[in-house]
Amino acid sequence: MALKALDIYKMLPKKNCKECGYPTCLTFAMKLAAGKADADTCPYLDTATKELLRGATRPPIQLVKLGVGERSVPVGDEIVLFRHEKAFYHPPGIFFSVSDLWEKERIVAAATRVMEEVFPRVGENLRWNGLAIRNESGNAPTFGKAVAAVEEVAEFPEVLVSESPGALEAGLAHCGNYHPVIHAATEANHGEVAALAKRFGCPLVVRAGDLAGLAGLAKACTDLGVRNLILDPAPANLGEFIARSTGIRKKALDRSGPDLGHPVYLDATAFAPEEAAIVAGILKYAGVIVTSVLPPGTARMALTLRQNVYTDPQKPIQMTPGLYRVGEPGPGSPVLATVNFSLTYFTLLGYLEASRIPCHLLIVDTEGFSVLTAVAAGKFSERLVKDSLERFQVAGQVKHRTLIIPGYAAPLSGRIEEVTGWRVLVGPRDAADIGEFLEKEWIAKGLPAP
Ligand code: SF4
Repeated sequence: MALKALDIYKMLPKKNCKECGYPTCLTFAMKLAAGKADADTCPYLDTATKELLRGATRPPIQLVKLGVGERSVPVGDEIVLFRHEKAFYHPPGIFFSVSDLWEKERIVAAATRVMEEVFPRVGENLRWNGLAIRNESGNAPTFGKAVAAVEEVAEFPEVLVSESPGALEAGLAHCGNYHPVIHAATEANHGEVAALAKRFGCPLVVRAGDLAGLAGLAKACTDLGVRNLILDPAPANLGEFIARSTGIRKKALDRSGPDLGHPVYLDATAFAPEEAAIVAGILKYAGVIVTSVLPPGTARMALTLRQNVYTDPQKPIQMTPGLYRVGEPGPGSPVLATVNFSLTYFTLLGYLEASRIPCHLLIVDTEGFSVLTAVAAGKFSERLVKDSLERFQVAGQVKHRTLIIPGYAAPLSGRIEEVTGWRVLVGPRDAADIGEFLEKEWIAKGLPAP
C-alpha cells in the first residue's frame, strides 16, 4: 500500500534539522509521499524504516528511460489498470528487429528507416523508436559487427538480443554512451548479464515463464546493482502474454508484487499474426514491443493505435484556434467554421484538400469538444463565432460575408446570422460530403455572393 504524507511523517525522527535538504520533516514527508524524495537522504532513519519507505513511496511501476538524448523513450511509471481510470502516460517503444545474419546494407536500411520515417497525424509526428539487434548467428564477433553497422547511422535506442554474455559484451563495445537495453537475463545467465548491465549502465530485460520466476530474477538483478529492469514474461502464445502482463500490472499497482513493478517486454515477431501481437502489446501494458520491419499498412496501424491509446481520455487533442489556409485561398474563397477538436480538424482538412477547392478554415475554441458535443454543451455558440471572426480578422481576408458552419450546428444558424451579420450556409454533417457540398453550393452557384 502507498503511504500518505502523514503516515510517513509519523515515522520520521522529527528533528527538523534540514540535513535532507528540506526545511522541515513534514516537507520531506510530503516529497517522499509524492515520490519526489529519496528516503536515503535522511541520515537518521534506520535501515528497516528506509526499506519500508522505499517500497511504499516509489512509483508502483518504475520509469525506465530507453536510450539517451532526443530520441530516448521513457516507459513504465503507469498508475492505472484501465485507461478510463485516469490515462496511460508512456507509450511503448516500438523497435524493429534486425538479425546479425543480415547483410550490412539490409541492417543499415532498417536503421535508416527508423531514423527518418515520420507519420504526421493529428498534429503529432509519429515515429519508430529504435532497433532490436538479434544475435541469431550465435557468434560474438558477428554480433559486434551488426551492432557496429547500426551505430554508424543510429541515434536512437537499441535492444541487444542475446543470452550469451560474450556476444552481448561484443555488441556493447560498439555502443559508446548509448546504453542499449540488454535482452535478456535468465535464470541461467543472470549473474554475468547483470554484471554487464551494471558495468555499461544499461536497462536490463529479465526473462522467465511465470510471475514468481520473474519477480525472483528481478530481485536478484536489483540486488546485483542493476537499477533499470524490464520484464519479459516469455509467453508461448498471446493468451499467455495478456494473462501474464495483466498479472504483472495488477500486482505492481496494488503493491502485492513490488518486484514486478517494472515495464513489460513483448517480442511480437514470435506470434502469428504479428499484427494481433502488436495490438495486444499496445493495449495490454507492454513498455517495449519488438516487431519485424513492418510493411506500410501495419506500420500505420501500430502507430495510430499507440497514439490513440496513449492520449488522455479526459483531454481531447486540440488545435490552436485561428484562421487556417487550405491551399491558396483568395478573397472569393469559402470560409468554413468548425471546432478545435483535432480529429474534426484533420478529418475535415483531409476532405477539403481532396476537393482541391482552396478555402479558409476558421477554428473556434470549443475546448477540444467535437461539433455535436460542443453544440449540445453550449461551447459552440453565436457569440463564440462572432468573437472568433473578429479576433482572427476574417473579414479582412475575404470580400464576401458568407460563413459555412457544420451540419450539426444547424440550430445555431439563425442566431449566428443575427449576431455576426454574416450570411450562414449550413454545411454537411459528414465531413466526407464537404467537397460535393462546396461544388454544389459555392462553385456551381457562382459564390461569393455579396
Ligand atoms: Fe527531518 Fe531527517 Fe530531514 Fe532532518 S534530515 S529534517 S530529521 S527528515
